[in-house]
Amino acid sequence: MDLNKTVEACAAFNNFPRVRLATLPTPLEEAVHLSAALKGPRIFFKRDDLTGAGLGGNKVRKLEFVLARALESGADTVVVVGGFQSNLARIASAMGARLGLQVELVLGGLPDEPRPMTGNLLLDRLFGAKVTMVDTEIRWEFGDAVQVVVERLQREGRKPFVVPLGGAGPEGMAGYVNATQEMLEQFEAIGIEPDYLAVPIGSGGTYSGLMLGALHFDAPYRVLGISVSRTRDYLLERVPAEAASAAVQLGLDAVPGADDLLIHDDYVGTGYGESTAGAMEAIRLVAETEGILLDPVYSAKCMHGVIELIRRGEIGADQTLVFLHTGGWPALFAYAPESFGVSDGPKA
Ligand SMILES: *Cc1c(COP(=O)(O)O)cnc(C)c1O
Repeated sequence: MDLNKTVEACAAFNNFPRVRLATLPTPLEEAVHLSAALKGPRIFFKRDDLTGAGLGGNKVRKLEFVLARALESGADTVVVVGGFQSNLARIASAMGARLGLQVELVLGGLPDEPRPMTGNLLLDRLFGAKVTMVDTEIRWEFGDAVQVVVERLQREGRKPFVVPLGGAGPEGMAGYVNATQEMLEQFEAIGIEPDYLAVPIGSGGTYSGLMLGALHFDAPYRVLGISVSRTRDYLLERVPAEAASAAVQLGLDAVPGADDLLIHDDYVGTGYGESTAGAMEAIRLVAETEGILLDPVYSAKCMHGVIELIRRGEIGADQTLVFLHTGGWPALFAYAPESFGVSDGPKA
């Protein structure tokens, strides 16, 4: 790896404005009990669930760059689009409050989906965000709902800035190019050369940023992406295209081709946000062995994939894997206790 190629030395990258609201560096912690339980590789958690703002998660690093753009544009209001248990919405609400920006959320759910005000949705309200709920027949298809909110805000004399879905785009990726440098410095300090960096894939922005970072710094590991919604074929096409266009703006010259990507889509289950037995097993195992909470939507599905790859021998006991914990655990409270396979014991 080549840590001389710091992002500070890269002019285009430095032109990306940034507000510093994350608690960094996040810890890198070895999970010896989890490794032993799986008879598996050395496992480390990169604790990006502890990035601080609004209870933390991967969106904090993205929003440091996205919200800086909003401020630069003179906006006084940010519009954030997502699912009704969106982590992006929760974290943007908290960071918006810190920056003095009004936050308007446009949150979608399928028409028949119950949307109790708990988990992220409760926290959005506590952070003072305004919520417009939308029925989406197809998930992530908001029709003109965002435009309607933007026009209403403009009529009210506000200057809205729309945050891209998932915090995607070059700003979001910049956060994970930076994170790569931070991780490589931590790996060097403790003398490890990981074989894999595992991460869940939603929009793919985090994965793309990590790929750009890995190529830029010539990292030793492969970035292992576990999709929580999209198909592998779709991602093999989209990720290189989106990473390439972001690389131009960030001034990075190494761009990933489809051959560089290591992506699985076997752990989605019946759909985004719908729990699977494997994900719930992963939540219990990691909680019991390490005292670390995963979330049912992203990190648990990723860990399910990692566990399966270890059990199949595709990740060997002599290897080292770093699991990027992207956060999301406030959504735990929006799931029924039975779905975790836990229940009260007998009455005393
Ligand atoms: C948004 C999110 C992801 C996915 O990140 P992308 O950059 O959209 O792929 C993963 N984990 C958690 C907890 C998230 O909130």
